[in-house]
Amino acid sequence: MSRHADANEEAILTCAATPLSDDEFEVLDAHSAELGGGFAIRRALPLRERRMIGPFCFLDHIGPAVVGPNGASLSIAPHPHIGLQTVTWLLDGAVLHKDSLGYVQEIRPGQLNVMTSGRGISHSEETPDGLVGRMHGVQLWVALPEADRRCEPRFEHHANVPTFTKDAIEGAVFCGTWQGHTAPGTHFSELVAMDLRVGAGESTLPLESTFEHGLIVLEGAIEVGGRALGVGELLYLRPGRASVCVQASADARVCLVGGRPFGESILMWWNYVARTRDEIVEARHQWEHTEHFGTVDGWGDRRLTAPTVLPAGPRG
Ligand code: MN
Repeated sequence: MSRHADANEEAILTCAATPLSDDEFEVLDAHSAELGGGFAIRRALPLRERRMIGPFCFLDHIGPAVVGPNGASLSIAPHPHIGLQTVTWLLDGAVLHKDSLGYVQEIRPGQLNVMTSGRGISHSEETPDGLVGRMHGVQLWVALPEADRRCEPRFEHHANVPTFTKDAIEGAVFCGTWQGHTAPGTHFSELVAMDLRVGAGESTLPLESTFEHGLIVLEGAIEVGGRALGVGELLYLRPGRASVCVQASADARVCLVGGRPFGESILMWWNYVARTRDEIVEARHQWEHTEHFGTVDGWGDRRLTAPTVLPAGPRG
């Protein structure tokens, strides 16, 4: 995904661990936005009040939308990334990924795509030809730590991830480790991301207590600690919790992310995660004027144009 389908200018966003409030449960509203092609998204990270959860600096809930001849269609032309990993996980539908390493990979529900941009990669994401039906999923961006952020780019597709049952929850671990279940993707810091099918009743999930966590509802509604949580909200849980109790009166679908609070302050601009403005300006130049990010086959001259770099601003 790209942070903006089409923008002429963009301010650099500073992202760091947020000072903790006294609230045990912090509920924030996600941004609503349009990804282009008729796809509504809810962006739960970065928010003004909370920019990161562990190493996660971007969390898009995409759809659900109906794709087909008269419906929505995803068509994100080639664009560059540095300093982050993109993690794609679908509940319904399919997305076709193509990148500058030459990978052409369709992803379906239950499968996992992890793209490590490192020093630079470009890719496109689109609805596969002929796909008809519902499209629904998430894309997360994981900031790379200083030691690894200039690594060689790589792309991984995994056909399966570990699943588990706990109380009324059937879960799939698609990033990191939860209770001995380890997702197959390569990561560079301690983290977890899970897709939870929550059934009616009360379910208690053990948590890694050194992690901070966030929950977003993808379908239905749940209650945590007496707080109702619906689609379009982010529930933040501070480090120090050994578990979370999720209540539901009907089936719901939830994405839970977590990680050790990220020890570095990062800069986000467009599709880049960096540490300095100069790096961002250089990587913008590399996309617009050099071959640094390679090319993605099948798009001809179509590619996203980088916005102008504005100084740090209040957006977010
Ligand atoms: Mn992207």
